[in-house]
Amino acid sequence: MTDMLAETAAPASPFTFTVAQERRIVTEIPGPKSRELHQRKLAAVANGVSTALPVYLSHANGAILVDVDGNQFLDFGAGIGVTTIGHTEAAVVEAAEKQLGLLTHGMFTITPYESYLRVAELLAAHTPGDFAKKTVLINSGAEAVENAVKIARKHTGRRAVAVLDHSYHGRTNLTMAMTYKANPYSFGFGPFAPDVYSVPGSYPFRDGLTGAEAATRTIEVLEKHVGAADLAALVVEPIQGEGGFMVPADGYLSALVDWCTANGVVFVADEIQSGMARTGAYYASEHFGIVPDIVLSAKGIAGGLPLAAVTGRAEIMDAAHAGGLGGTFGGNPVACAAAIAVFDEIETKGLLGEARRIEAAFRPLLEALAAKHPVIGEVRGIGAMQAIELVHPGTTTPYPEAVSAIIAYAAQQGLLLLSAGTFGNVLRFLPSLAVTDAHLAEATAIIDEALAAL
Ligand code: PMP
Repeated sequence: MTDMLAETAAPASPFTFTVAQERRIVTEIPGPKSRELHQRKLAAVANGVSTALPVYLSHANGAILVDVDGNQFLDFGAGIGVTTIGHTEAAVVEAAEKQLGLLTHGMFTITPYESYLRVAELLAAHTPGDFAKKTVLINSGAEAVENAVKIARKHTGRRAVAVLDHSYHGRTNLTMAMTYKANPYSFGFGPFAPDVYSVPGSYPFRDGLTGAEAATRTIEVLEKHVGAADLAALVVEPIQGEGGFMVPADGYLSALVDWCTANGVVFVADEIQSGMARTGAYYASEHFGIVPDIVLSAKGIAGGLPLAAVTGRAEIMDAAHAGGLGGTFGGNPVACAAAIAVFDEIETKGLLGEARRIEAAFRPLLEALAAKHPVIGEVRGIGAMQAIELVHPGTTTPYPEAVSAIIAYAAQQGLLLLSAGTFGNVLRFLPSLAVTDAHLAEATAIIDEALAAL
């Protein structure tokens, strides 16, 4: 009997928790306290800052969010892929708390400190490529993209920057120009930065092209429309995030990297959403066997504290002159301490394996859902970065209303889900690596109910 129990018991989680890892809905959603806070939000916060689910958080731990009314939500968004190793993960909290009382701000470009160096060394060790690398730390993903473009332009002496259709790179002026979807990200906010070109990528579900065919199409536009001699950088999300978790066809990314290398174009992998253990490798580039010239990290790098990084070949990174890179808060000591703890936890707790466990447990559940519900056009993703694309059955016509309905239903059940996609018809799953197989089954059952009710 004991043996049987041991055999069927779930494997031990590498995490310890301060909040029970369970959904618990005790009020209507949103609850009364959240509704009151939301009135204050509407009065005090700019409308442009929208709210997907107006439940106001009190605290969070592991894979669970707790709101001010005492409701507990199973979090399948992780703050859009930020708390990858779990909310308030013990080692991250401890490291940040300790650092807070020692040195909160140093201004690295005036008086430096070691933790910045350590983060740069860890990034050099864990980003793809076995060559000398250097790093600059900044505060946000968009800033990382901006810095990569500055560095690539300085290194190449060229003006143009290319991005792929369906990409998302941020909300600053340059990154708005580099982001595909106008509504809501850029419309009305122009004029935009010049010399940015959006070119077709690889979206197997919609274009039906092989990797080689899609790469030929991309390269033709780069050569004919942009001109290789003028192109400083090609900036690519190895798995597109906001665009809808498109996994490019086999051989697509490596063909682009080869073309960039042959043409002196800096290949920048924007791994802001796909990096830092999310896909079961430190960086998604590894799944495609590519070695980018520059890799961008943010989101999951510091367990929730604001930190981002540009890491690349030393000779490219060093093209920028002294004083040309930096910023007041870039590489803040508390954020660096948290990042060091994140790297340490990934190593010591074997968290790359947790992302692979999530794929192994979740993927078959999603495939079974797709077999049952013809509105699911495709299941895709790698590791703990999975998605389903919803279409009108038998077509590829986007069905965004279905996504909204599932998200609304799930919220009432205490499950937080996120949408994605240029057409708003993708449900993306970015759980923290602390979710259990039982959580994955629970979430699938809720989505199944929501789909049945469509
Ligand atoms: N690039 C990618 C791939 C992203 O997913 C994001 C954020 N969603 C960004 C850039 C921008 O990051 P941030 O919001 O930190 O500026």
